[in-house]
Amino acid sequence: MNGCLYIVATPIGHLADLSQRAIDTLRGVDAILAEDTRQSAVLLRAHGIETRCEAVHEHNETALAARIVERLQNGASLALISDAGTPLISDPGYRLVAAARAAGIQVSPIPGACALIAALSASGLPTDRFCFEGFLPAKSGERRAALLALKNEPRTLVFYESPHRLVETLADAVDALGADRSATLARELTKRFETILTLPLGELADRVARDADQQRGECVLIMAGATRRDSEALALGQRLYAELIKELPPSRAAKVAAQFAGVAKRSLYGGETSD
Ligand code: SAM
Repeated sequence: MNGCLYIVATPIGHLADLSQRAIDTLRGVDAILAEDTRQSAVLLRAHGIETRCEAVHEHNETALAARIVERLQNGASLALISDAGTPLISDPGYRLVAAARAAGIQVSPIPGACALIAALSASGLPTDRFCFEGFLPAKSGERRAALLALKNEPRTLVFYESPHRLVETLADAVDALGADRSATLARELTKRFETILTLPLGELADRVARDADQQRGECVLIMAGATRRDSEALALGQRLYAELIKELPPSRAAKVAAQFAGVAKRSLYGGETSD
C-alpha cells in the first residue's frame, strides 16, 4: 500500500492565498516536508494546521529522498512545500519527485501561487508563449553571455532576480537586448508594496537605477521576446559596426551603425560615450 506525495503550493506573500484544498491536504497528511520549518510555521499557524513539519532543503534532499520514498512505500502520505510559491520552481524537490515517480509512488500537485505566473499575468506582455529562465548567473560576464544568448528568442522572457543585482541585470539586459523592447518589473507581488512597472527596457533600467525603492523586495523581471524585425535590425547593426570599427573609434562606429540600423547604440557598444 503506497502513500501519496502531494506537491503543495503556498502563498508568495499574502497568507490568504492558500487554497482550501491545500489547507485540507496539509492537515490530512502524516508529515509536511518544508524547506525552512520556522518560516513555514508562520503560514501553518495562521491556518490552524498542526501537522508535524520536517526539513528538506537542497543540501539534504538527495540523501533524504531514498528514506522519504521508503516511507511513502510503507503507506505514509506526505506534503512537500517550499518557503513560498510552487515547490520545484527555482526551489528544491526535483530529486525527490523524480525518485518517488521512479518508485511508482503517486505524486499529486495541489496548485496555487507561483511568482512567475502571477507576474506574467499582470505584466501586459505577450503570454501565449514564454520561457522561464529562473535566476540569471550572479557574475556579470556569465550574466551578459546568458542574456546575449537570448537576444533572438521570440518568446517572452521571464527571470527571477535578487533585488541586490537588479540594477546591474537591467543594465546588462539593455546592452544585450537593446533599450526598446517592453519589460516589466513585478515587485513584492501580493504584499503591501506590490509594484508592477511596464516600460521600454532602457527606461525601466534608468527608472530603477534612479529610485532606491524599486531596488527592494522580491522581484520578477519580464522582457518581451525579439520580433523578427528586432533580430534583423540588430544583426544589420552588428554587421555594420564590425565593418565601421575598422575605420572609426568604437563609440563613433556604434553611433553610425545604430542610427542606420535603427537600434540602440548600447546594444552594439557598451563603452563610455563622448559623442
Ligand atoms: N517557488 C517560488 C515560486 O513559485 O514563485 C519561487 C522561489 S525562488 C527561490 C524566489 C524568487 O521568486 C524570488 O527571488 C523572486 O524572484 C520570486 N518571488 C517570490 N515571491 C515573490 C513576490 N511576492 N513578488 C515578486 N517576486 C517573487
